[in-house]
Amino acid sequence: MAKEKSLEVEQITNQPVLNIGMAGHIDHGKTTLLYQLTGKWSDTHSEELKRGITIKLGYADSVIKRCEKCGMLTIKDKCECGGNAVPLRYVSFVDVPGHEMLMATMLSGAAIIDAAILVIAANEQCPRPQTKEHLVALDLKGISSIIIVQNKVDLVTEEEAIKNYNQIKEFVKGTIAEDAPIVPISAQQGVNIDMLLEEILRLKIPKRNTEANPIFMVARSFDVNKPGTNGSSIFGGILGGILKQGKLNVGDEIEIKPGMTSKKHNETIFTPLITKISGIQSGKNRLNEAIPSGSLSIQTSLDPMLTKADSLAGCVVGLRGKVPDAISILKIKATLFKEIIGEEKKSEEELRVAPLKMNEPLMISVNTTITVGFVAKMKGDMIDLTLKTPVVILPDTKIGLARNIQGHWRLIGHGEVLK
Ligand code: GDP
Ligand code: ZN
Repeated sequence: MAKEKSLEVEQITNQPVLNIGMAGHIDHGKTTLLYQLTGKWSDTHSEELKRGITIKLGYADSVIKRCEKCGMLTIKDKCECGGNAVPLRYVSFVDVPGHEMLMATMLSGAAIIDAAILVIAANEQCPRPQTKEHLVALDLKGISSIIIVQNKVDLVTEEEAIKNYNQIKEFVKGTIAEDAPIVPISAQQGVNIDMLLEEILRLKIPKRNTEANPIFMVARSFDVNKPGTNGSSIFGGILGGILKQGKLNVGDEIEIKPGMTSKKHNETIFTPLITKISGIQSGKNRLNEAIPSGSLSIQTSLDPMLTKADSLAGCVVGLRGKVPDAISILKIKATLFKEIIGEEKKSEEELRVAPLKMNEPLMISVNTTITVGFVAKMKGDMIDLTLKTPVVILPDTKIGLARNIQGHWRLIGHGEVLK
């Protein structure tokens, strides 16, 4: 990695500087585009929803480079013209593979995205329901760094592309994406990807708070040992996720909440874990100290049995003694939309969001967890939810609320956590 080189956009560090979320209606080309942007197919993970519901976020990192010879932007080391490509910006993409129905909930609640790429297919009417739903979710979360990608332009005539472009313009009018650039591309044919890379280079990097108590959100957890490994060659449990604030160092003593799950008399019990950081990795780079940005893997001294198969996904990590306890009863002030957004071809009556009901299950997203909460108490818009999985509440946590409507979870509103 060209660590020391001073470059025109920014110093290339050994960590990504931005987390970019992929959004858009199903089949509009998110996965295909992610491949163009990273050279990797995001692993689709398994579809099962565990422990209540835990979403396995996919990450793929990329270094955007410029060809020294012809000036083209690329993610490859060598440009098509044969010239050398020089690194400009290191970014991380976040995907919610295979869970389009959950993405809106995720986007509106997840605390891990700095910017978003909204993929819209040029060969369909705009907006499709999830396009609308995802934009509302971004709006709720206050993510204004948005790039709109008009994909599949290879399937339409120039005239149709212009018509679609105007529909997109009309759709985003008055929303958080009003001034977002619209980049026409073909993800499948790899057309205009360099224009999109240019826009990614223009995205603003948010100010990070490196002085605060470290807060790391676990999105994945692994056991990287091959079956049969034993003794001193065993790697401790690995946590993958995002450092929201503060710094983490190799050697730090950390705690993980809500922690390990176990069953006792048919009840799920959560036990916080305490361990030590034995290594930190960002992409291929080993770090001694990590600052907020991009996705990280933290190697711990935990028994890898405890981290295997994403068993700690959704947990919050901080220095020992500094992580608030996880709670199972969440008090929120709920705001419901007037109508359901992620649906189409329904009558006004069918689209109306009915008031919350006692005991009804809602899908909520907090940090990197998506869980089910049952309405346990209602007083006007003040709601108590009993959660299937306890969550650690951090300041400024925003919560997306989704309701199951005919087998699909639909974003119906949002919640503010009450103290
Ligand atoms: P996702 O559901 O948003 O992740 O969409 P995918 O990336 O899986 O794409 C859905 C389908 O559209 C696949 O069959 C892709 O090959 C196809 N596709 C994606 N981008 C393009 C494009 O730019 N042009 C054409 N013709 N097809 C595309
Ligand atoms: Zn070149």
